[in-house]
Amino acid sequence: MSAKPTPTPPAPQPRPPSGPGPGGSPGGPKEKSYVERAKARFMARVVVAQNGCWLWGGAIQSKGYGAFGYGGKGKSVLAHRWSYVTFVGPVPQGMQVDHLCHNRDLDCPGGKCAHRLCVRPDHLEPVTNEVNSRRGAVGRKSHCVQGHRYTAANTIRKRNGARNCRECQVAWTRAWRQRQLTTTAPT
Ligand SMILES: [Zn+2]
Ligand SMILES: [Zn+2]
Ligand SMILES: [Zn+2]
Repeated sequence: MSAKPTPTPPAPQPRPPSGPGPGGSPGGPKEKSYVERAKARFMARVVVAQNGCWLWGGAIQSKGYGAFGYGGKGKSVLAHRWSYVTFVGPVPQGMQVDHLCHNRDLDCPGGKCAHRLCVRPDHLEPVTNEVNSRRGAVGRKSHCVQGHRYTAANTIRKRNGARNCRECQVAWTRAWRQRQLTTTAPT
């Protein structure tokens, strides 16, 4: 009986380091992971807007959010949510991904606005459903009771976060002055 040398397993092939660089570098590894390829597909549909938003140029679902084909044939996910999960991190259970750019923009009339198409990771924030609907209810009225639009120029921000319509305020002041004039100096 002769002792055979035990075969040693082949040494693992050294892998070229693959950084998470956007788009990937030419001459890099041909075989990318599904996520890496998805990132490339994703970025190919992004249009950078003047205000810095990354607007989704792909399919749009019924509520006006971007839809991204991911997870298998015929499947799609919310593009902005996917963006947050992929580029930032997991969304805690039960939370929605809210658009900060939408909340900041006083000129936005709301509804199915262009902000819903924004997939820029740092314009997104996970919030609870409660916070999201509260923001929607408080901050999203597009017009005052008199029907003036809440543009940035026409909005007076109060300390408590409420808004006043500048046009109305001017009208009230004018009416008040008018009353003063008519009561003190009748014609
Ligand atoms: Zn944005
Ligand atoms: Zn908006
Ligand atoms: Zn008004």
